[in-house]
Amino acid sequence: MTTTNRDTVGFVGLGIMGLPMAKNILKGGYPLVAWNRTPSKIDELETAGAQRGESPSDVASRAGIVITCVRASDDVEQVVLGQPGVPGIIDGIRPGSVVIDMSTISPAVTREIAGRLAERDVAFIDAPISGGEQGAISGTLSIMCGGSAEALDRVRPVLETMGKRITHCGDSGAGQTVKLCNQIAVVLNNLAMAEALVFCQRSGVDPAVMLEAIAFGAAGSWQISNLGPKVVQRDFSPGFKVGLQQKDLRLALEAADDLDLPLAGTSLVHQLFRAVEHRDGSDIGTQALVRALESLAGVEVKSDRTPEL
Ligand code: NAP
Repeated sequence: MTTTNRDTVGFVGLGIMGLPMAKNILKGGYPLVAWNRTPSKIDELETAGAQRGESPSDVASRAGIVITCVRASDDVEQVVLGQPGVPGIIDGIRPGSVVIDMSTISPAVTREIAGRLAERDVAFIDAPISGGEQGAISGTLSIMCGGSAEALDRVRPVLETMGKRITHCGDSGAGQTVKLCNQIAVVLNNLAMAEALVFCQRSGVDPAVMLEAIAFGAAGSWQISNLGPKVVQRDFSPGFKVGLQQKDLRLALEAADDLDLPLAGTSLVHQLFRAVEHRDGSDIGTQALVRALESLAGVEVKSDRTPEL
């Protein structure tokens, strides 16, 4: 099968990320058939022109390219491989099709799923994403891909409706490995910002002024520019939830365990987020990492000023 602008795309998982991504595929001119576990979440997409699928296997039987964007490794296994008595994508899909998983899951589980699909002559691309809800809405995600170059070439035009930077990282699982590298760098930048804010507050300097002063120098980061202003205004609403961040850190630490590799900084942040979850629950935004440091230090980072970043 060759991919043209007219191939039907299937989409499974219309959450914070999946729904705007599916909308962008429709906007890109592709016929779309979608399924979500909670059916009401399909309504908006149906109004925008998508067809309603009855199940993951039904979606797969009606599309040449099937995308999953669910939550964790076992969720992807459930929708792709099915469960006893419940068919999955693998049961409906036609040989020659491509499945793309855009959830963040284990590289090892990714390789297992790829092997099972290969037995049916179906290619599997791991294509986890970075860029948050805003990137999903604006179609500017970074997409980190693993799998065969040939299969990726076939689905690249569909990925281009959702993302700006599409990188082929290597064989199956390599996209997930790079996504975990992304998460390691993200949490350590978050910790760096939180520690600077707590130090600044205790020193008696306005933390909003500090953010303005350092955001454009060598310490600048996505976290400082996007999460820093939220912290000083005590806004802990989620862009990315602590519970999902912890899932990703567990994946990184498990993979490091298999490699007999110390990940000292990542382990520390994982423990600090555990303290945040204990106090504030798993649905708070990841900028709440600062709250763990605040309770150790006995300070609260706060400013009356909105930083100009
Ligand atoms: P979300 O809002 O919680 O949505 C999860 C989606 O997966 C929902 O549609 C949910 O269905 C579905 N789902 C979960 N388990 C399922 C199962 N066992 N069977 C069928 N459907 C299932 O999560 P999200 O924020 O969109 O994140 C999706 C993925 O992208 C995750 O792997 C996450 O780590 C990754 N990611 C998220 C962000 C972000 O900023 N949010 C950024 C980068 C990557 P229901 O509607 O029925 O619950």
